Amino acid sequence: MQEYEFFFLSLNRSFIMTIGTDEQGLVDFLSMFSLSVDAENSIIQIRPFQQTTLELRNNINSFVDKHKANTPQVHSLRQFVEGIGEGEFFFFHPNRNFSTQDIVTIGNYLRAANGNEDFELLTSQTQESLGRVLENYEPVAYANSRRTMIGESERKKRVCRFCGQSEPVVKFRKVAHAISESLGNKSIILNEECDTCNEVLGDEVEIDMINYLSLYRTFFTVHGKDGIPKMKEKTFRFQHLKDREFAFVLQGDNTATEYGPPKAIIAKTNQRVALQNIYKTLCKYALSVIERKYIPYFTETIEWIRGRKDFSELPKIAMLTTYQFMDSVASPAIIVYRRKTNDKNLPYLVGEFHFTCLVFIFVVPLSSQDDRTFTYSTDYDGFWNCFPYSRIQDTNWKFDDFSDSQKRLLEFKIKLLQRK
Ligand SMILES: [Zn+2]
Repeated sequence: MQEYEFFFLSLNRSFIMTIGTDEQGLVDFLSMFSLSVDAENSIIQIRPFQQTTLELRNNINSFVDKHKANTPQVHSLRQFVEGIGEGEFFFFHPNRNFSTQDIVTIGNYLRAANGNEDFELLTSQTQESLGRVLENYEPVAYANSRRTMIGESERKKRVCRFCGQSEPVVKFRKVAHAISESLGNKSIILNEECDTCNEVLGDEVEIDMINYLSLYRTFFTVHGKDGIPKMKEKTFRFQHLKDREFAFVLQGDNTATEYGPPKAIIAKTNQRVALQNIYKTLCKYALSVIERKYIPYFTETIEWIRGRKDFSELPKIAMLTTYQFMDSVASPAIIVYRRKTNDKNLPYLVGEFHFTCLVFIFVVPLSSQDDRTFTYSTDYDGFWNCFPYSRIQDTNWKFDDFSDSQKRLLEFKIKLLQRK
């Protein structure tokens, strides 16, 4: 019995399937995607671009039924194939180490094949928007869809990324989530965060992010440690009842007038939140997923996250509300872009955080590899224009200042629209 990995990519999703099987099982599996099987010489010719046909679906169903008892992971193969339309093309390969550039090219090929679009035109369009960022940055993505353990697996050898300590000075008994568990992350685990930092940073920094996103956590029924949160706040209550049915009760001063309900209401919570802690939390997520060898470039950033250093000159955070990625990116997810060139006009580390319908793009400040703060608009614009997002839905991006380190009562302004 041996383990094999296969990479699948369709227009809106990708997944890596791991199967443990014997040689016959492997041949059965590969035969479904093959052009020809030469059993005598053990040669199977594979076609990486596959089209979903009834025959392929039937073959996959029989394969899944045959193997599901021993390898439950085969269910995700059925899900993947069910998720794509009849006659649609997808990509299949026994190699998973594709660069971002490769994925973009494969994606363009699929778009061209599925939508009768011009491959050359798509290539030149994506090249224009992605080219500069890929020339300068190495992106790495982590999503809450695949169990990932980051950093040293052996406890005795672990060094905490945030305090630099090891056992026995600190302990590594708890499971540290690279993105807060309350935001629904069950899969991305950081080995290199000690129990003390986990507790202190969780209680003092990450808690503000969790409260800041509370409305979204309830509305998108995000399961944290204690299920979907119920909000019982100063002037309102909000909870999920069942099957995406909600109760929202506003208490206190009723601002309705004789002309009808108000256009917007202010819902006050009981939580005090410092916006700067939201920025710190995003940076903590980014530093949790980068390779350990780059951590020494962020000594000052970590001092700042831990509250050992004040810093109020923060760049703006770009925020977008969009439903565009909700099907394709498992929430929460983080992508980190690490600059691979010496071009100091660009920040060394940029993070992109996805949570439900929200996207945050932020510069990780205070790196020893940067010579500026990206707070001046010319520096910030230079960075922003390098990123492909500057060209997508550019009018919808908001650029907010999260420098305020004062704890303030969190309020939500909720707009009300007349039902048509
Ligand atoms: Zn620590």
